[in-house]
Parts: sequence; C-alpha cells; structure tokens
Amino acid sequence: MVHRVTLIRGDGIGPEVAQATQTVLDATGVGFDWTIVDAGVDVMDQYGTPLPEHVLDAIRDTKTAIKGPITTPVGSGFRSVNVAIRKALDLYANLRPAATIKGVKSTFEDIDLVVVRENTEDLYAGIEFESGTPEAAKAYDFLTNLSGKPMVEGSAIGIKPISEMGSRRIVKFAFEYAKANDRQKVTAVHKANIMKFTDGLFLEVARDVAKDYPEIEFDDRIVDNMCMQLMQKPELYDVLVLPNLYGDIVSDLCAGMVGGLGVAPGANIGRDYACFEAIHGSAPKYAGQNKVNPVALILSGALMLRHLGEQDAAKRVEAAVREVIREGKSVTYDLAKGEPVGTQQMAEAIANAL
Ligand code: NAD
Repeated sequence: MVHRVTLIRGDGIGPEVAQATQTVLDATGVGFDWTIVDAGVDVMDQYGTPLPEHVLDAIRDTKTAIKGPITTPVGSGFRSVNVAIRKALDLYANLRPAATIKGVKSTFEDIDLVVVRENTEDLYAGIEFESGTPEAAKAYDFLTNLSGKPMVEGSAIGIKPISEMGSRRIVKFAFEYAKANDRQKVTAVHKANIMKFTDGLFLEVARDVAKDYPEIEFDDRIVDNMCMQLMQKPELYDVLVLPNLYGDIVSDLCAGMVGGLGVAPGANIGRDYACFEAIHGSAPKYAGQNKVNPVALILSGALMLRHLGEQDAAKRVEAAVREVIREGKSVTYDLAKGEPVGTQQMAEAIANAL
C-alpha cells in the first residue's frame, strides 16, 4: 500500500531534517507518495504569509503530514505558524513520547513515558486582555461583578476555558493510545484542588472515561506533585494526560529527562488529520550547515508510521536510531564523542541500519 503524505519542509534547519527524514522513511520499503510543500519565512515574499492556504489544502487532501520546524516571523500576524496549523485542522491531541536512548546524555535512565497534551483549550485559547485597554477594563468590571472576587484594578486578564467535549476527547485519545500501544496505565494531571470548575471538570470527565477502559489502570495527580514524582519515581508512570498549559510544561520536562531537543519527537493529531513534527524549532543559526541532529524528526516519522498502521517499519526505524546512537560513530555534533558527521550522513547511517 502506498501512503499519501504531505511533507512540509519548514525553514531554518527544517529542509535539512526533512530531507534526512525522507531518506530514512523511504529506506523502510514502505510506499510513500509525497506532496512536498514549503511554509515559513522563506515563502513570505512569494505568498505574503508564512502559511499559504495551499499548504493547509495539501494536508486536508493527504490527511497525514510531516513537518520540519517553522520560524514564526515577527509581524506576520501569527502568534505561531505551528499553532495556526493545529487550530486550522483541529489537531487537538499533542502526543509526546519520551524514552531513554542509550548514548544520549541524560540524568535519568530507563525513562519510558508518553505525554498526551490537550492542544486547543485552556489558557492557550488566546482570550487575553491587555492591561490598560478598554477591553481589559470591561472584562474587569464584568468579572468582578459576576464573581464578587477582588482583582487588582488594571490587571491584565486571561481566560481559561475547559470543556466537557475537549476533556472527553483528549482523555479518550490517551486511553486509546494506551490500548493500541500496550501501555498499562493512564494518569490524569490537574490542579483540581484549586481550580475546582475548570480542572475539576477535566478530572471528573477523566474518571468517567476511565470506566470504559477497565483493563488499563487509571489514577490522577496534582500537577506540582506530578513534577516531583517524575523526578523521584518516574518508573511509576506510563501515559500522562494533561490540559494544555500543564501539558506544555510537563512534556518539556519529560523531554529534558531523556536528553532534550535533538531526540524528542511529537505529533499533533485530530479526528481527520495528523501532523508529525519534532519538538525543536528552526534553529536559524545552524541553517544550511548540514549540522543538526535529524533524530527528533526521524522519530516523529516513526510515530507517523504507527499512525499509518506500519508498526513493523516503525519498530525498525526506532531500533536503527538506537543502534546508530549506541554505536556513536555516525552521530551529529550534539551526540558525538569524537568527530561528528552531518545531518544527512547520520540519516544515511540510520537508513543503512534498518
Ligand atoms: P530551537 O529549538 O530552534 O533552537 C534552540 C537551540 O536548540 C538551537 O540553537 C540548538 O542549539 C538546539 N537545537 C535545536 N534543534 C536541534 C537539533 N535538531 N539538533 C541539535 N541541536 C538542536 O528554539 P528557538 O531558537 O527558541 O526557536 C527558533 C524558531 O523556531 C522560533 O521562530 C520559534 O518560533 C520556532 N519554533 C518552531 C517550532 C516548530 O516548528 N514546531 C517549535 C519551537 C520553536
């Protein structure tokens, strides 16, 4: 079977890690029909936007995309191009596995965690009022009257919407992921002791969804305690599911526990579409140097293979990455003990180890 996939090359180091990833994915023997498109600062002059509509149309058409990082140009009208893609396609689940790779420097050993972060709600909904504006004053009057709670006059105000629908679909996603990937336990992370209605709703829905999955263990943790526990007893945890803000923070914490940006894959998945991407950015200072580590996007490619039902190829890519890093001969500057190789050379070593 041939899989139709949109490859967004991105900018900065994006095109280099995208090329490296394509090299490895094509070498798996899985059939791909690639639609290759560009987004980011390099297309601004041509299209007047870093995210031309034809890029979104290409993802709508192929349903699956893999994407190099994209710089968010200052003054482009976007808070983040990456967030704009997630919003336009309702990619509500951010999937961030964090697993130790031998040979990658890290304080922790044998970490095997999966963070599932809600991507569309919470303080990230973008409902914010700037201090000193008429809108903030209006929101201040309305909210102090409605709640009867004091606020310092002139405060900037942010709103945290959490819905039953948004909570249900993300927790369900976490359990379905656990089921499909032989994971034993899902932990819902929240601050429901303080935010009784917003995080309280998230927790209540999580408990309800858990009843549909009696074969998977379920528990919950308050987010501050979760961070402490991850530092002290990470082996007790498996799949974590979190609202947007805590998910953002805890997923980076977990990426740090396995050695950081160069090896951390990710995916944004919705009901109809999915976009796979490394968590690192476009690292403009290294652009065009064939220097950076391609592993984060290659491992995102392995997540994509699983999503496409190509489990065997996914396992082979992950094993090849581990083998090349363990051997330590064909690795980029961030992992090398001796002479480093370039981005494309590391990808070719991984392709040869498949
Ligand atoms: P960054 O991740 O691009 O780079 C920070 C540093 O991390 C780099 O200077 C480099 O030292 C290291 N690094 C990053 N990726 C690496 C790799 N593959 N191999 C080795 N080292 C690597 O973060 P930044 O400088 O904060 O962001 C640059 C731009 O990227 C910004 O415009 C930001 O908006 C954008 N960004 C995009 C995405 C995305 O596309 N998903 C994610 C984060 C940031």
